[in-house]
Order: sequence, then C-alpha cells, then structure tokens
Amino acid sequence: MARYVYDFAEGGRDMADLLGGKGANLAEMTRLGLPVPPGFTVTTEACRAFLATGAEPEGMAQEVARHLSALEDSAGRPLGAPDDPLLLSVRSGARFSMPGMMETVLDVGLTDDSVLGLAKASGSERFAWDSYRRLVQMFGSTVMGVDASRFEEAMTRLKEARGAPDDLHLDASDLAGLTDTYKDLVLDGTGEEFPQSPAEQLRRAVLAVFRSWNGARARLYRRREGIPDDLGTAVTVQRMVFGNLGADSGSGVAFTRDPATGRPGLYGDYLADAQGEDVVSGIRNTVPLAELERLDPRSYRQLRDHMLTLERHYRDLCDIEFTIERGRLWMLQTRVGKRTAEAAFAIAAELAEEGLITPDEALIRVGGQGLARLMFPRFDTSVTGAALAHGIPASPGAAVGAAVFDSAEAVRRAAAGERVVLVRQETTPDDLPGMVAAQAVLTSRGGKTSHAAVVARGMGRVCVCGAEELTVDTENRCFATRDGTVVQEGTVISVDGSTGAVYPGAAPLVPSTVMRYLETGEQSAGVVAAVARALEQADAVRRLEVRANADTPEDAARARRFGAQGVGLCRTEHMFLGERRHLVEEMILARTDGERDRALAALLPLQRVDFTGILAAMDGLPVTVRLLDPPLHEFLPDHTELAVRVAATEARGELPSLRDTELLEAVGRMHEENPMLGLRGVRLGLVVPGLVAMQVRAIAEAVVARVRAGGSPRAEIMVPLVGAVEELRIERAEVERVLAEVSAETGVPLPCPVGTMIELPRAALTAGRIAQEAEFFSFGTNDLTQTTWGFSRDDVEAEFFSAYLDKGVFAISPFETLDRDGVGRLVRIAVDEGRAARPDLKIGVCGEHGGDPDSVHFFHAAGLDYVSCSPFRVPVARLEAGRAALERTGGGARW
Ligand code: PEP
Ligand code: MG
Repeated sequence: MARYVYDFAEGGRDMADLLGGKGANLAEMTRLGLPVPPGFTVTTEACRAFLATGAEPEGMAQEVARHLSALEDSAGRPLGAPDDPLLLSVRSGARFSMPGMMETVLDVGLTDDSVLGLAKASGSERFAWDSYRRLVQMFGSTVMGVDASRFEEAMTRLKEARGAPDDLHLDASDLAGLTDTYKDLVLDGTGEEFPQSPAEQLRRAVLAVFRSWNGARARLYRRREGIPDDLGTAVTVQRMVFGNLGADSGSGVAFTRDPATGRPGLYGDYLADAQGEDVVSGIRNTVPLAELERLDPRSYRQLRDHMLTLERHYRDLCDIEFTIERGRLWMLQTRVGKRTAEAAFAIAAELAEEGLITPDEALIRVGGQGLARLMFPRFDTSVTGAALAHGIPASPGAAVGAAVFDSAEAVRRAAAGERVVLVRQETTPDDLPGMVAAQAVLTSRGGKTSHAAVVARGMGRVCVCGAEELTVDTENRCFATRDGTVVQEGTVISVDGSTGAVYPGAAPLVPSTVMRYLETGEQSAGVVAAVARALEQADAVRRLEVRANADTPEDAARARRFGAQGVGLCRTEHMFLGERRHLVEEMILARTDGERDRALAALLPLQRVDFTGILAAMDGLPVTVRLLDPPLHEFLPDHTELAVRVAATEARGELPSLRDTELLEAVGRMHEENPMLGLRGVRLGLVVPGLVAMQVRAIAEAVVARVRAGGSPRAEIMVPLVGAVEELRIERAEVERVLAEVSAETGVPLPCPVGTMIELPRAALTAGRIAQEAEFFSFGTNDLTQTTWGFSRDDVEAEFFSAYLDKGVFAISPFETLDRDGVGRLVRIAVDEGRAARPDLKIGVCGEHGGDPDSVHFFHAAGLDYVSCSPFRVPVARLEAGRAALERTGGGARW
C-alpha cells in the first residue's frame, strides 16, 4: 500500500519529488543534526490523489494521526491541549520553490480553550491572543474561503480606533476582541463557526494546502517558470516555534552569500519579536543580519555555524529561514537559494575555485538566459544626475518605464505596448500579473528577501525594494520623494536594480562589462572573470560547433569575436534591397533574355563584393551562403501604393509612366494568397532563369578573389526550401556547372560543398533520398515549425499565441523553443535517415532555435554537428552547448 506520510527523520534531500523541496530539505537538516522543530511531511503523491478524486487517499488520515501522535509524544503535550497546547504549522512545499504562491496555516491547535492554556504556559496573554487571531485569519481565508480583505479591514479599523501605528501597539484585550470579530466574520461569511477541534483544524488545513496547488496565483507562476502542472505539492506539518515572544525572540531570512552579487558572507534580514511571515511581508522594516550579532551573539554564532555547515553540505548558496524563540535558535527551512545571473556566475566560479565543486559542475550551475541578461547595458551614472531615491538593489539590470501603481494598470499599459515600472509599497502574490508585465518593480518597503525581491529575481525583472525615502500613494497614483518631488502615474523613471538608484526620466545606458569582454576579450575581475571561466569550460567540453547567422562582414566579424566558428546562414535577400532594388525590378520586368542578363550582370559584381567581405571576416572558417529564398514580389513596390499612384496620375488626366504600368502589372501577376507557401526557395531557382547562376558565380568569384589575396575562403552553397530530391538534383547540377566554369576560367579549384536546408516536413521525411544530393543539411526550424504546425508566424503570433499560452496548448511559443514532440521528431527522422544514406553528412540548424538554450540541448541530443544563431546569441549557444554535453537527462537548469 502507498505510503503518504514521512517523519522528518526519515527523508532526505534526494526525495524532493515525493516530499517537496521544503520537506526534503527539512529532513536533510534533521539528519545533519541541526535544530529543526520536529514534524512530518504529507507527500505530493497524496496531493495528486486528492486533487484527482476530491477525497483523501485511503489510509492517509490514519497515517497522519499516527505521526501526530508521535509528535505529541515527543513534545510531551497533545495538539491543542487546553492547559499547554502543542501548536502546528501547516505549509506547502512543492518540488520546485514557488515562493508565496500557495497557502500556509500557522498556529493550528488553538481554540477558545487552548488559547488560555497558551497564555498561561507562555506567560503572555498578548502573545496567545495574537496567535489565535492569526490562526482565525489564516484559517478563515485559506481554508474556509472568507475574503482576506475583511480581516485586514477589521485590523485597520481597530488600529485606527486605538491610534496604534502598527499591530505591536495593540494589547491583549484588543487582540482578544479582534479574535472575536474575526470569528464573527467567519460565521458571517460561511454560516459555520470557527472549528474548535484541533484535529479537524489540522485535517482541513492540510487539504486546503493541497487545493492551493491549483490556485490562480500558483498556476500563473508555474506557467511563467515552466513548472509542470501535475506535480502537486507536499505539506509539511511542524511544531510551531515562536519568534514573537518578546525582544529575545525574532525571525529572519538569510543567505550564505549575497544572492544579488554572489559575494561571500552571510546576508539577510532579521526582525525581532516577529514571526517569519512578518519578515517577508515587509509589514515592518527589518534590520540587516549583522545586527543580530549585537542583539543575540550566541544565536548569531550558532546560525553562522549552521549556515557554513549547510553551504559545505549542499556545496551551493543556501537560503534559510530561522526563528529564535526566547534565545533558542531554530532552523525552519533551507534550500539552494535563487540568485541573480551575476551571482550565479560569481558563485559557481568561486565554489570551483574553493575546490568545493568541479569546473564541470560550475558550468552546469550557470546558464544561457543569465548570460544573455548580463550582456545588457546598464545606466551611465556619470550623466544620470541626482537619484530620486535609493533602495535595496534586489534584482540587477537597468529598466526604464512609466510609473504605474497597481498590477491591473501595469498589465493594461504593457498590453498597449508601453514600458512600465510597477511601484508599490510592497508587493503581494496578487501583484504577480503586474510584475510579469512590468520592466521593473520598485517598492518602498521590504528587504532583499521580500516578496517583490524574491519573485522579481526569479523572473529576471529589475527590482529595487525598500526605497524608504519614497512615500507611495496608491490611491492618488503617485509617489513623493523626501524633498517633496511628486511623481505622478505615467511619468517615466529609470530603475537600476544593480545599485538601487531610481532616476527621473529615461537615463542613458552604457554597455555591460560582460559585453565589452565578449567584444574585445578585455578581462576584468568579478563577474567578467566568472563568465570567461564558464565559457572556457563550455568550449572545452562541448561537441556542438557554434556558427552565426550573418549577412554582412560587420556581423560576421562580431560573431567571430563572440566565438563563432563560421557562418551557418548567410541570407542573401538583404543584398537585393536598398539601391539594388531597381536592378531586381529590371530582372523581373525583363522581356528578353538580353534585358534579364543585363540586370543580372549588374547585380553580379555587387554580390561578389558582399561575399568577399564575409569570407574575409570568416577567413579559414566555413561560410554557408543560402541562395535567394523569398518570393520575388517582396522586392517590388507595394501593390496598393502602386495602384493608388497610377490611379491618381490617371485621375489628373495624365498617363502613368511605362515603368509604373509594367510594375503594377507584374505585381498583380505575381500576387500570391500564401506567399510563405508560394514561389520561393529552390522553386525560384528552378523557374527564374539566370538567378542561381548569377549568385553562384558571385560566390565562386569571391572565393577566387580571396584565394588570390592569400586567404582561406571556405564557402558552402545552401539551397532553401527543398521538398523533393529532384529539386535539389536539378539545382545542384546548375551550381556545379557554374563552379566548374569559374574554376576553368580562373584556374582556381572550387571545392564548395553543396547542401540544403531541411525546412519542410516532406524534406525531413525523405531525408534519406535528399542526402544523396546534399553534402550537408541545415534545419530551417523557422519554416519547419510553420509548416509542421500549419501556421504562418507573422499572422498567428500576435493574433492568438497568448490565448494558446493561457489555455496551455503550449507552455512556450514553438518559435522560441523547439517543439520537441512534433518538429523535433521530424528533425530526428531527418538526422537518422540522412546519416544512414550518407554517414559523413554534416548537420546543423540555422533557425532561431539555434540560439535558444533549451533547443540547443535538444540539438545536442539529436546528434547535430553545429547550431547557428544570431551573433549576440553565440556566447549563449557556446555555454549551453557545453552544458548539454555534460548533461545526462537533456533537461537543462535555468538561472
Ligand atoms: C528557417 O526557416 O529556419 C530559416 C533559417 O530560414 P528563414 O528564417 O530565412 O526562412
Ligand atoms: Mg526558412
């Protein structure tokens, strides 16, 4: 029979699937001998069974009862006993951390009787009533479904009536009265009395936490973070310890290193006379952890030792929650801490340096998304002028946007295309949609471990929190600075999440140091050195080559500086635009072979120069030039514009120019309903005389020019949009004819490999045959995604992708991350059949997915030889190709 409950002493960190991250880590700390209040964990399996059937799985209740009884024995007192009650916390804990997204119920076990026992046992009536009112509030809203704001309103009314600035100024009788008010709210809201049976409280709290897995906040968070919906949450049930028993008690949150920069040293926030929830909610302002050393040196020393133990044991940055109950330290939670991209690189490099992890492990712990973030510019502080305010730099980066004061407004403006900064006193999980929509989050309260900070860091949003100089007035939609400046909603501000500064207006940006290193190779200490080390390691272990998509010598040169090992896709269509467009028009309008040849002859030297420059920039490395792909009418004027011009001329009684008349006729003739599926790619080469010959001659002559200049050009010729081997065979014959011709004319050998893109399902499915005519394949996953799904990217992405993401049809756009099940399957078929037909077939990818971290892992696993991506993503692809080579599961961690 399945087992649904584990004591903390029974589990371990490798059981996170079953016990959730929190349960597994509490078990690990228990086993390490750290002071963890005893408890047990109800498994994710129980949650899944409950959510599937709506009922507790058979046997679960008995198991909980057995573990409860053991807990009561060890505590020496029963749950909710009237004289001296054992009280419990009931918390969620999923496999992946979802901070603040699910429910918690504390102080379970308090009743009208046991509150008196607690008062006596603790010696503090105030504390007992404060705990009871917290339970009624949390249980009432979480378990019984009473609107949480009704409790908050009652609290606000009471504080106003007493003239109390915060809840600490309410006395025992105030809180007893408030508890009664809360109980009335429960009765009023549900028609049911607040339950007086401790066992019933426990049972209902556990089930409510299970249910909160499917709450709206939790689902939104999972979608953003790519966490599967079917994991379920575990529930940890633990003996309560109290940080709100007076000045010798308190709660805190701490990191073994600074999660923003990665700098070593304990880091955190502490709040005396408070429970953990008060620390993260930002209700009162915390003090830095260092202050605890002064307040309670013994607990501080113990905490420091435990944290050192944890970091050595986990071999990573740990974040922990702790409570001090009357001078006694308790560890309530630990996990491998979330961190910024900068900290991820810095910590990985440092731990490798310390010998705690290997260079390979260090590489696994960083990621392409983080690296991409570090390549963004920062504010130029030499010209920003005075800051409006300073807060805590909680999530780095530079963001500019209009100040908005609630989540809905942020979402509304962002949907209209505006960049916004969400400004709040403090955020709650309800602000999540606004945080997703905003460029940055700015709060006036809360520390580095507040909700705003933790969530923003996780999402890669810029965040400055605890900017106490600001008075945020949500009602009047403005904030005021200390000197009285008032910033209204809609005003543009700049937020620097790396320094904590907030500037008026749109501050100018400077390039990132990581970008400078990538551009120039200029090394420096800190994050740049850490990035350099990670990239060196990736280059040492990766099997995939990384090339770039580049159409100009400048792009090719930049890509090379970024570490590209060639050009995987040189699109030639941009070379037909601008001033050259009229030559393409001539070619299209030509009525005789002579006219057409003249137009092509004029294009030839221009194309030759293009290719010579790119081959020079990539000297010694392969350059894959793709023959012209888009439909020719893309080079002609817009039909409507032309028709209006001709009509307007005629309306004036004049004759339109012959050119306009001919162009209009050509545009009309070449109109296609679905140009994406029309006359393009290899089809152009087969039906437009002279086009392929001109392009191949230009490539060949460029190679000759480079050889004569002493270079080592390595041109490869790639045919787009092939669906049948016959198309490639015909085109290839033409390519080889021209190569032979130029070689004969110049006496320079031209061993240019000829290959094809695989970007149609039919090409993938007949890859074995196509490989007979192709020396290489390059997956055009942009078109392959379009044609596999049957949607045109330009048409559908803006139209309905957000609805598809909402409805869960896909978790991420298949144009961003390769659809492994569909498009990926075609890729695998083509790789297998292509290689079976031609074992030395070189295979790469040049669609957008070539620079997407997750997709790079797939291409590695599928056995490709290289990925090709835009120059700026080359470092990201190098890093991920290295990580993919080290990875056994094919998943891919993200920071
Ligand atoms: C592709 O289809 O993936 C590709 C690289 O070609 P393009 O994006 O130019 O159609
Ligand atoms: Mg394509």
